Parts: sequence; structure tokens; C-alpha cells
Amino acid sequence: MMKKITVVYLLFLFVRIASNFQWGVIGAGPAGIAVVGLLLDSGVPAHKIAWIDREFNVGRIGEYYQTVPGNTKTSLYIEFIQSCRTFQECKSDALSDLYTYELSKEYPLYIIVKPLQDITRYMRTHVVSHQSSLTGLEFNDNVWHIELANGHEFDAERVVLATGSHPQSLGYQECSAEISLDSALNKDLLVDLVTVDDTVAVVGSAHSAVLVLKFLSELPVGRIINFYKKPFVYTQDMGGWQLYSSSGLKGVAAQWAQEVLEKRPPCNLVRIFNSERARQAWLPLCTKIIYAAGYERNPIPGCPPDMAYDTHTGVIAPGLFGIGIAFPEVVVDPAGNTEYKIGLNSFMQHAQQMLPKWLRAKEVTTRFAQFEDLFDIHLL
Ligand SMILES: Cc1cc2nc3c(=O)[nH]c(=O)nc-3n(C[C@H](O)[C@H](O)[C@H](O)COP(=O)(O)OP(=O)(O)OC[C@H]3O[C@@H](n4cnc5c(N)ncnc54)[C@H](O)[C@@H]3O)c2cc1C
Repeated sequence: MMKKITVVYLLFLFVRIASNFQWGVIGAGPAGIAVVGLLLDSGVPAHKIAWIDREFNVGRIGEYYQTVPGNTKTSLYIEFIQSCRTFQECKSDALSDLYTYELSKEYPLYIIVKPLQDITRYMRTHVVSHQSSLTGLEFNDNVWHIELANGHEFDAERVVLATGSHPQSLGYQECSAEISLDSALNKDLLVDLVTVDDTVAVVGSAHSAVLVLKFLSELPVGRIINFYKKPFVYTQDMGGWQLYSSSGLKGVAAQWAQEVLEKRPPCNLVRIFNSERARQAWLPLCTKIIYAAGYERNPIPGCPPDMAYDTHTGVIAPGLFGIGIAFPEVVVDPAGNTEYKIGLNSFMQHAQQMLPKWLRAKEVTTRFAQFEDLFDIHLL
């Protein structure tokens, strides 16, 4: 009898230890991929890393934007890949192909999505991965308790949220027939969603808005009305640093905005400053509307939507860190502009700088009192 109880106890202990991780990484978009790669580079045992994503398809760019013209030169994608030793262990034709594209040119996003799909598959053969949704996250006894939709539950000493964002809808009442930005950014889908009888409103003036305006102007559409709040800004090389490095237009979008929109816009395209008065006058004429007015953080179960984080370190709470488009690093450039650092290379650089600090998470926990005013602890 005693022997039986001991075996059951040992089994229980084994299951508990086996389901305790040093790291839980939620999200397998570019930011999550960078974090898992760098954790492996830094010698964290692969079986101590739990990696969770509902798709494992390189996040939003893999799921929706593979045909979208990218704003990153090939050379920077190669830098991204070369920043991580683990990525280079992966044998992949798509990765070899990446080196054949012209270094100083921008291409559609699939040129980086396909290598990252292979790298994801490779890293999943090493770490413990769950294709499922995070449904619960709780801090108890100095560890994070993670619950998944597939019924799995486990603890992790430190958790990285790389959970991404989605396009925000502004819900203007005057025009309710919305085309989602994800569909609008795919010209093959967009062609079936608009007709010559449509007047299409496009809200926004950044990268996505310009690409949608370009696609619409190349399709048989009645009229296009662009509601903008800010003038176009372009990324500029300042010799050693870039003005508007994240917020400015680059690549195909920059070229088209400069040469077509600013100089000789298509005759069926009108640009109107987005005021309430303008919306009341013009929106009732629109038959469809596309919001390209920014992205908002995906909901994270167990956490409030406006959860605060330290915009320099990504620290959210003891042993809880955020990265990627949902928790971007914020910097002030030499001209005094505040920039949200978004893009693969920004995520990689931020992860490289922060992981050594996050690895010393105990230090973060003991020093937590000093950070108290940065975080809203009640939200946990
Ligand atoms: C149109 C467009 C073009 C862009 N072009 C470029 C470019 O050319 N170059 C560049 O460097 N950057 C580009 N970006 C910016 C940026 O690189 C991407 O937005 C990138 O997808 C953000 O990566 P991420 O990992 O932070 O988030 P995401 O890609 O959104 O990934 C988040 C992941 O988390 C998962 N997830 C979320 N919640 C849960 C949950 N509860 N449970 C389980 N999984 C969950 C999702 O399934 C997803 O896989 C572009 C962005 C857009 C919108």
C-alpha cells in the first residue's frame, strides 16, 4: 500500500515538475519568433520553454499580408535572420531564396514570411509548443499560471506576451458597410468587394491607408474618398539615424504617395481632412468604408485591454514582459519626435537588449517596489 502511495506521489511530482517552465512565450508572430530564437541562443533548455500560438503561421503578416508590398529592404531581413544563431540552424529553401533577392529593394512580405514559417517549424521541434489559445493568465506563488483552450495548464517563471494587434474600426455611423482592412490589403480579395458603382471611404494616411488607396485606384471603383488627419510623412535618412523611422512611409507606399498622390492623384480620388463636419457631409455619399487608422492590442485573457507596460523595458509586472506591435518600445529621436519602434528588426533589437535583463527576472521581482508607479498592479 505504502509503495503504491509513493509511486502515485512521485508520478504527481513528475507531472508537476514536467509542466513547470522557465519561460512561457505567447505568440508566434515575428516578435515571438525572435524571443524564442534568442532564448535558445542564450542556452535556456528547450524543454523549459513553452511556446503558444493559435496558428503558428508567422502572426498577422503570415495570415493576412503575404502579398502586401513590404517596407523593409531585403538586407534588413537578412540582418534579422543573422541576429539569431538558432534561426541559422534551420535548413530551408525559402531561407536560401531570401539571399537571392536584391538587397536594397523591398518585396512583398512573403519573402520573409516563408523563411519564418520554416524557422517556426524547426523551433517547434525543440521547444514545447501548443497550438491553442491562451485563455487564462494568473500570478500565484511567484509563478505565472497559464491556461489554454485545449485544456492544458502549466506554470512558467517568466512569461513574454508577443500577442500582436488588429486593425481598429472607428464605427462611423454615417457609413456602416465596412470592408475589413485585412481584406482591403489583399488586392485579389478587394477586387471582388468593390464595383464601379461604389464610393469607397478610406480613413487614414499611413502605410496601410496609402496601399489601400493605391489598390483601389488600380481597380474599377466609382469614387475614392480619403479621410486624413495627418499629412503624409516619409522616412528620411539623416546620416546615422532615420527621421520618422517607424511612422514614416517607405518603399512602394512612399513612392506612390510622393509621385502619384501628391503630384497627380487619380481623378476619381478626393482627399478630405477628417473633421466631424466633413464626415457628415461626405460619408453619407459613401457606399463602403475601410478603416486604415491604426492597430489596437489583441485582447489578452486575464489582463485588461489598457494594461500598462514600461515602454523602455517591456516590463509589465514581475516576470511578465511584453514585446512586438502590442507592446512596442517607445523612443524619442534626435529631432524630438516620439516613435513607436515597429517592425521585425526593431523587435529583434529590443529582444536582444531586454532578454539579458528579463533572464534576471528574480532581480526584477525584488526590485519591483521601485517600479510600482509604472504598473497598475490591480490589473493582475
Ligand atoms: C500591413 C502591414 C505591413 C507591414 N509590413 C512590415 C514590413 O514590411 N516590415 C516589417 O518589419 N514590419 C512590417 N509590419 C509591422 C510588423 O512587423 C507586423 O505588424 C508584425 O506582424 C507584428 O508582429 P507581432 O509578433 O508583434 O504580432 P503578430 O504578427 O500580430 O503576432 C501575434 C501572434 O499572437 C498570437 N496570439 C494573440 N493572442 C493569442 C492568444 N490569446 N492565444 C494564442 N495566441 C495568440 C496570434 O495568433 C499571432 O500569431 C507591417 C504591419 C502591417 C500591418
